[in-house]
Amino acid sequence: MTLQVQHHVSDELLLAYATGELAEGWSLAVATHLALCPSCRSRLSFMEHAGGELLELAMPETTDDMASSSWDEMKAKISASRPVKKSELKTVPEQTDTPILPEPLRSYLGGDVGLLKWKALGRGAYHIPIKTADGQTQVRLLKIPAGKPVPEHSHGGRELTLVLKGAFTDGASVFKRGDLEEADESLTHQPVATPEEDCICLAVTDAPLKFQSRLLRLLQPVLGI
Ligand SMILES: [Zn+2]
Repeated sequence: MTLQVQHHVSDELLLAYATGELAEGWSLAVATHLALCPSCRSRLSFMEHAGGELLELAMPETTDDMASSSWDEMKAKISASRPVKKSELKTVPEQTDTPILPEPLRSYLGGDVGLLKWKALGRGAYHIPIKTADGQTQVRLLKIPAGKPVPEHSHGGRELTLVLKGAFTDGASVFKRGDLEEADESLTHQPVATPEEDCICLAVTDAPLKFQSRLLRLLQPVLGI
């Protein structure tokens, strides 16, 4: 099976991953996308190669310059200083037949999709919360019935959704296996599973605000906060 991933990790997110800045939940989504996406593995490899070069280039010059540069500008500077050979970009062999749950997700859930203990989420959808130690993210595997929308949920900031099986549409875009949707609170969206089969995806959101008040906690889902 050859994957044609269309929706990739953004430069910002991949760079944060490369520098180890991402919390565990976000990293899990990025790393699992990488397992399914040779093109992003190449980009990551470029960034890692580029990191050392960049430091040499930037030092001892001002770092203000770096802060105001976009990644594209930095990339252009690095490429100009040392042409990167095509062969350097293909350090990771392509995986053509990956399991539905590739590593590192596999280590969290086990390898057999048939043995997963799904919990009902309402309206035919199921989920499995995935524990992480970061205290910042909520991670879950979601199963959306064919042709049905993702159950309503709210999130305060970033949301990453990685398709592992089946597909969903969101507006005019179609997300298939390996595709990563990166959304923030400014995006109103309603993903809907395509009619052919149930869609299994990994969803990572910012952990919801935690309130001391029991009443507020009870009202949280109602208030959408
Ligand atoms: Zn990618």
